[in-house]
Amino acid sequence: MFRLGRVRVFVLDDRLIAKIEKLKRERNAVILAHNYQIDDVQDIADFYGDSLGLSIQASQTKADVIVFCGVHFMAETAAILSPGKTVLLPEKTAGCPMADMITGEQLRELKAEHPDALVVCYVNSTAEVKAESDYCCTSSNAVAVVNSLPMEREVIFAPDQHLGQFVAERTGRELILWPGYCVTHVLIREEDIEKAKTKHPDAIVMAHPECSEPVKEMADELLSTGQMLGYAKTSNAKQFIIATEIGIIHTLKKENPDKEFIAATERAICPNMKKITLDKVLYSLEEMQYKITVPEEISVKAKISLERMMEILPVK
Ligand code: SF4
Repeated sequence: MFRLGRVRVFVLDDRLIAKIEKLKRERNAVILAHNYQIDDVQDIADFYGDSLGLSIQASQTKADVIVFCGVHFMAETAAILSPGKTVLLPEKTAGCPMADMITGEQLRELKAEHPDALVVCYVNSTAEVKAESDYCCTSSNAVAVVNSLPMEREVIFAPDQHLGQFVAERTGRELILWPGYCVTHVLIREEDIEKAKTKHPDAIVMAHPECSEPVKEMADELLSTGQMLGYAKTSNAKQFIIATEIGIIHTLKKENPDKEFIAATERAICPNMKKITLDKVLYSLEEMQYKITVPEEISVKAKISLERMMEILPVK
């Protein structure tokens, strides 16, 4: 029975994938999947990676339609960078609690308190917040972006306080931090790292800068998701403890079948990232839902903060 059940699921998935592929060709669509998506969705994607890297790749393709398997701010970023393309988010409620921790209005108020400050916003922010910012940054280039700013200027960093603290330490600058945080990364605790290290003493601990400070202090390497994929490939180590959303372990294993990847904790799951399924991807292509658009005046300003970042250094 169990085997029959598994075969049946496999056949259903196969049919679903065939339908998705067919519609993708008919619509001239490209499917992007963030590293934190469920395994099946990562496997059918044309591109997988981090949010900004994906948006840049999408803007460079000749596709008319971008199906963004991620969360709302990522689809917005794709729409900003690809104004002529239709951007679809297969699950309309897939949002990012951290991005929603600051509004454009709140940032305007903070700017009014610090009229000479430059504003750097993490790409994990709404289009409205990007539009209010001078520079955008990713977790891999945040240090370089802040280092490029004149020393005499104050810097507001939003919305992630943990990435902000990491940047403050690496640059030696005092930043005005917005108290936002990723609700998933803060679930990774020191005890989790301790336990994992006791069990796997030779493993390299890779942690994302969105983790809390005590967790970051215990890590061997602080890396963005893209950097983790690169590091795992080139490192001579055979075991890695992963302190970020566990979805990335699927890609790490796929790209490095001879190495072992251990989740620091199985609690590190972003529920919003897991909302998209193969059925929803199919529905999205069938019904051309849910279209994500950004009002022109916001899009134009937000694009400037993204382009300024890309001028400082290419995104990795
Ligand atoms: S993992 Fe954190 S930052 Fe990323 S989408 Fe989920 S809540 Fe937002």
